[in-house]
Amino acid sequence: MTELPGLRIRGLRVAFDGFTAVDGVDLDVQPGDLRFLIGPNGAGKTTLVDAVTGLVRATGSVEFGGRQLLGRPVHHIARAGIGRTFQTATVFEELTVLQNLDIAAGAGRGAGTLLRRRRSVPEPVTRALDTIGLAELAERPAGVLAHGQKQWLEIGMLLVQDVRLLLLDEPVAGMSQDERDATGALLRQIAEERTVVVIEHDMAFMRSFARSVSVLHAGRVLSEGTVADVQADPRVQEVYLGH
Ligand code: ADP
Repeated sequence: MTELPGLRIRGLRVAFDGFTAVDGVDLDVQPGDLRFLIGPNGAGKTTLVDAVTGLVRATGSVEFGGRQLLGRPVHHIARAGIGRTFQTATVFEELTVLQNLDIAAGAGRGAGTLLRRRRSVPEPVTRALDTIGLAELAERPAGVLAHGQKQWLEIGMLLVQDVRLLLLDEPVAGMSQDERDATGALLRQIAEERTVVVIEHDMAFMRSFARSVSVLHAGRVLSEGTVADVQADPRVQEVYLGH
């Protein structure tokens, strides 16, 4: 596997009609990290991810593997190897799990009918199916999957696109405890080969699985470090963990 790029954000700022949602964020995510981005509602977490993925206009600098991505169009950023999920999983409900993965794998090639013309399933798709634990459900329509399984399928759709940096927005929201544990194990496995950033509200999940944590508050990075570091930080206790 080629060397993973790191993410380097400097002075990132996003304003909506004069309201500054992201207010000068510096953030470094090392290759292979499993970084959790936490903070109270409205702290700017989703807007930060929107800025990195090109969905909102921002100023400052976002470098991925040394290449400046700020101001580049969404498809350019995706092609650089950055992919994301949203809080609500977006899968094609009528298509099978396998077809969903295949369409994602072919997205860059503008192809969605590859399986019909091919006799075998491409190796990255088989691998992703195994990783997300849905091999036995490959031929089922995605619409019948449980909530957690849809989230895993969406993550699988990033894996087959060879995304190197996954940005996941509250991946365990609405999941059962078993699904949360399975998701944590999945993210750890993914972080062996890629870089993962998770926006999260669930503190127990963060404590169990984060390798590093950044706490956002009012559009700024309030605290950063290991789980133990940020939990011991009085500023974090004051704004977030204390209540
Ligand atoms: P978080 O993800 O940490 O909960 P968000 O990034 O969603 O926070 O929101 C940060 C702030 O920016 C909030 O005050 C929110 O209301 C505001 N905001 C987010 N998106 C928009 C938008 N499109 N227009 C105006 N304000 C927005």
